[in-house]
Amino acid sequence: MNKKGFTTLALNIPYPKADPHRALQMPVYETVAFEFDSAEQIEANFKGEYIAHVYSRTSNPTVEYLETKIRTLTGSFGVLAVSSGMAAITNTMLSVCKAGENFISGNQLFGHTYALFSQTFADLGIEVRFSDLVSPEETEKLIDKNTRAIYFETITNPQLHLADIEMLSSISKKHNILLICDSTMTPPNVFEAGKQGVNIEVLSATKYLSGGATAFGGIIIDHGNYDWQINPCVSEYSSKFGKGAFIARLRKNIYRNTGTSMTSQTAKLMIQGIDILEIRVQRCFENCLALGEFLLTHKKVKRVDYPGLENHAQYLLAQKQYRGIPGTILSFDLETKEACFAFMNKLQIIRRATNLNDNKSLIIHPYSTIYCEFSETERKEAGIRETMLRLSVGIENAGDLIADISQALE
Ligand SMILES: *Cc1c(COP(=O)(O)O)cnc(C)c1O
Repeated sequence: MNKKGFTTLALNIPYPKADPHRALQMPVYETVAFEFDSAEQIEANFKGEYIAHVYSRTSNPTVEYLETKIRTLTGSFGVLAVSSGMAAITNTMLSVCKAGENFISGNQLFGHTYALFSQTFADLGIEVRFSDLVSPEETEKLIDKNTRAIYFETITNPQLHLADIEMLSSISKKHNILLICDSTMTPPNVFEAGKQGVNIEVLSATKYLSGGATAFGGIIIDHGNYDWQINPCVSEYSSKFGKGAFIARLRKNIYRNTGTSMTSQTAKLMIQGIDILEIRVQRCFENCLALGEFLLTHKKVKRVDYPGLENHAQYLLAQKQYRGIPGTILSFDLETKEACFAFMNKLQIIRRATNLNDNKSLIIHPYSTIYCEFSETERKEAGIRETMLRLSVGIENAGDLIADISQALE
């Protein structure tokens, strides 16, 4: 077993093939196709007897290095990098579920995931059964013989609700269905999905991994802990590919055929982002705690939510599941919507933007933006208050962030 720390390991993962110039960074292979020595060699490649890169929509050396890096850092079985977080979710769910089948999903979801599940998948004949995933009995009631998976987000946003993974894992095991999570909020240096019973992990690399909102990307991780013979979509691949059946189904079907590949340039940005991921997450976390504690003491602040703060109802679960670093996004409430807007407009360092986990601190008023198309009842059910602000905490100096918030609250 490798005992090296996350960052040491991240910086020392060897390239699949030695670089002729011994470059200290993985080169960017910006090429569409790859050449073969002979017609026989191409034939062997197409038969699966000679493994080499052929065409970058199906595989590319720089993207493969990113995949190897994530596989090593997560101790997982297989990894596939795709063009965006949404592509990771789409590829994964279409690989394990087809028309006439269903899966269960948490009901507090990233907006476009909710739209994908409730609109796109509904049109394709895949039924998504939404639940708060809080009660084991209620969750189990939704399972029938056509249910293929339970899907959840590790921490919902902006509600900041933590899924109880041990509970979900015991249900999925009991019914032999997949447990799939979106771990965008909890990057691999704080969350070991496979050890907690998750079978497939998807994440938007656009957020933490990219190293400061530099590029779109998505990652699919197979933790190698599911018997693929059970899943009707994947089982036909399991006789030939064994444990690699899920990744084979992606590469030979959904991923290749939908053309959702990551470019080598993007992979390069992700590789650099991962090298300093642990350091960035740690800094964001320290800032998040400092800001949370400051906001708690401010008389104009009516409420502060961050599961890393001891006053949060799920503090202990956050310690257990995410090594005490439950993402680096917090929310807080001011007196009124007008107070929120006035506060946002006075900020000088914190940016008004909708992204998450950038190096820069970003603020948004979810009620009037992300949830603007929701009815009043839907917003209430989703826990979206008119007085709530979401702050994605960056790596600036804590003192400057506190000073900015402090002046904007005056
Ligand atoms: C941003 C996000 C996505 C979508 O990722 P893209 O890279 O923008 O496609 C999915 N899930 C969560 C939790 C996200 O925050």
